Amino acid sequence: MTNSIPLIDLKAQYESIKPEISDAILRVIDSCAFIQGEEAKQFADSFACELGSGHVVACSNGTSALSIALETLGVGAGDEVVVPSHTFIATAEAVMHVNAKPVFADVDRDTALIGLNQIKATITEKTKAVVVVHLYGNVCELKEIEAFCKERGLLLIEDTAQAHFAKYDGRYAGTFGDASTFSFYPGKNLGAYGDAGAIWFSSKAKADLAAKLVDHGRKEKYSHDIVGYNHRMDEIQAAVLSVKLKYIHQWSEQRRIAAQKYNHLFSETGFRTIKINESVEPVYHLFVVECSNRDEVLAHLKSKSIGAAIHYPIPVHRQEAFANYKMAQVQLPNTEEICSRILSLPLFPEITDKQIRIVYDHFCEAAKL
Ligand SMILES: *Cc1c(COP(=O)(O)O)cnc(C)c1O
Repeated sequence: MTNSIPLIDLKAQYESIKPEISDAILRVIDSCAFIQGEEAKQFADSFACELGSGHVVACSNGTSALSIALETLGVGAGDEVVVPSHTFIATAEAVMHVNAKPVFADVDRDTALIGLNQIKATITEKTKAVVVVHLYGNVCELKEIEAFCKERGLLLIEDTAQAHFAKYDGRYAGTFGDASTFSFYPGKNLGAYGDAGAIWFSSKAKADLAAKLVDHGRKEKYSHDIVGYNHRMDEIQAAVLSVKLKYIHQWSEQRRIAAQKYNHLFSETGFRTIKINESVEPVYHLFVVECSNRDEVLAHLKSKSIGAAIHYPIPVHRQEAFANYKMAQVQLPNTEEICSRILSLPLFPEITDKQIRIVYDHFCEAAKL
């Protein structure tokens, strides 16, 4: 067990900040304000401040963040929303939650991200919004996409669940569109100790509306002027996140250094890794490499107690959940090819050079180009 290398090591991170985390959690328990206290509001304000612009609403998870963002911006029945199929299912699920129709776009073969050409190919007169996903901590071509959306009057939403504080053109991902969403699922780059999420808006009025939707459409304690949801972030999660927010830039840098080491090792081998877009400072949520015998390599790494995984093995448009919506007919050749070849290797801020070397060596023992 001691020689095992997990995909992510939440324990190592916890050990490094244990006293602060304990203080934060105990502070909430002592106050007995478990929801709707000051912690979630404070975290949302600090997070907005750190992002450098806009307004942030704390919420229950990255999926509710997406559906609240869509609803707040007026996306609903009859609208089409462009989403990549190469993403976690939540991106498309949220579109269904507001009764709109996800329209799946392919991704770029090199970056595995949705790009302007792929978006253009899916636009119809019903298209209301585009949701870009900054997958793996890389960032989509925001400049081109933002300009296109503005020109066509389309809403732009950034699913930033995997790219907290990644930069594009010197500016943080998640501050370009009309709204952006964050997940603080424990395994994300900024992770709570349970479910949590946030929604960013460029407009204060939209953020106020979203805050209302998240909390039962509440005007006063028992007076509600719109039909909302219970999608609040709880205070313990907010307190944990406020501690972790202080370290996120340091952790991102450690991720970049680890990824650089993998990249250096792989550079001589011909194995394909994910290309980072120009003008991007990535935050490497995952380190993804391709090979032709992926399942064999995964089994080999498992046998060596190395926690590799596939993100994601089935493209969203081919998920059984979407079977009734006739979406599987769409041709997404890059998505299909990428899904059949990718493998995520262990990556976390505390990973050591030695661990990286072991993972790389075992990968090379089994992998074929
Ligand atoms: C994790 C994730 C989500 C959903 O976040 P939850 O907090 O788990 O609901 C949405 N989109 C992407 C790209 C994700 O990685």
